[in-house]
Amino acid sequence: MRQDLSKATSWVAHIFGVLAIATFAFVGAAFAGLKASSVQLSGDSQKTEVRISIDQDPDLHWFLLRTPYRLVVELPETTFAIEPRSLKPLGLVDGVRYGKAAEGRSRIIFTSRKPFSVERVEIESGADKDGYSLAVSLAASSDSAFQSAMSEQVSATASIPARPDGDTTPVKPFTVVIDPGHGGFDGGAEGVSGTREKDITLAFSRELRDSLIQLPNFKVVMTRDSDMFLRLDDRVRVAQSNEADLFISIHADSIRYTGLRGATVYTGSDQASDADSQALADRENLVDQIGSASLPEENQEVTDILFDFVRRETQDYSWRVAKDLVGSLSQTIGVINNPHRHARFRVLRAPDVPSVLVELGYLSNADDESSLLDPQWRAKAVGSIATAVEKFAERKGVSTAQTER
Ligand SMILES: [Zn+2]
Repeated sequence: MRQDLSKATSWVAHIFGVLAIATFAFVGAAFAGLKASSVQLSGDSQKTEVRISIDQDPDLHWFLLRTPYRLVVELPETTFAIEPRSLKPLGLVDGVRYGKAAEGRSRIIFTSRKPFSVERVEIESGADKDGYSLAVSLAASSDSAFQSAMSEQVSATASIPARPDGDTTPVKPFTVVIDPGHGGFDGGAEGVSGTREKDITLAFSRELRDSLIQLPNFKVVMTRDSDMFLRLDDRVRVAQSNEADLFISIHADSIRYTGLRGATVYTGSDQASDADSQALADRENLVDQIGSASLPEENQEVTDILFDFVRRETQDYSWRVAKDLVGSLSQTIGVINNPHRHARFRVLRAPDVPSVLVELGYLSNADDESSLLDPQWRAKAVGSIATAVEKFAERKGVSTAQTER
């Protein structure tokens, strides 16, 4: 048991940590909040314990990944002062890697050649000279057991693990960033009777925001709430600095087939599902070159060893929410053939934020244009998107069942 004093100190440290992360997320500077040192491994190939000294009592999340078998522990941004020699493989642990995962967040990854089950991942106090230690226990298991633990985490609680009993710290709200496409001098597509895409996307996004903020435990942020130009990178940054659980970019583009109408949901991908999707992504991506001197592509992809599997997990979520959106939009406003498509959209490339782009309809089609201008049609579309978002939030363990609607 902790003494009262250390409890209070830890609480203050925790609050300070949260504030410091929030502050530094805004200015974008590095935050050296947490320090980790001295790793100790013990045990054998049946059961392996890891203990890492840390100087605070942080919030942590963990999740599993496969090929190879991995346990990923997510912490606030951490400075690692770990002796490489202490990372020699032992028992079930073949490797320990660590580093920065995103602004304000770090990860430690334990790799194993054999499947394992996670017996515990927790912070212990008073066990170490630094004050705390991150204690991890792994036990040998089977591939099928590992597989089912993994699919459980994806389908049910995702990377939000069960909270220990008695933990009453407030849960971070489910944060949705809505991105009204285009704006300012970038008007986007133009409708057959003169409707500008940037106006439709803003009007619709405001209505979607007003609907989503009614859900309990929801927070909604708009990338723009006026007729202003915003670079694609900046839109992505809004999602990342708000630690968004979901990013939805709203569009109503035009297409050369004037007869084509209906909604489409896009996810980001290096490989386009079809030529039209790629052409659309190319057109959308051009905006950053017109807007101002283009910034070089961040090379985080190359330098960050964590990037790849964080991105894989994020992609899983993006696909799930896209499927939910297609399911609910097809029942109300109608969708095109093969309504879930993918291409390399710059605005969908946050590696750590599930992201989708919704084309509500085509301004190149006269019927779609008049639908987009019809408040009743928009209300139906807003309702369908809200239903899908709510379903996704529930999958991620956010309770939205407190209100009667
Ligand atoms: Zn657009």
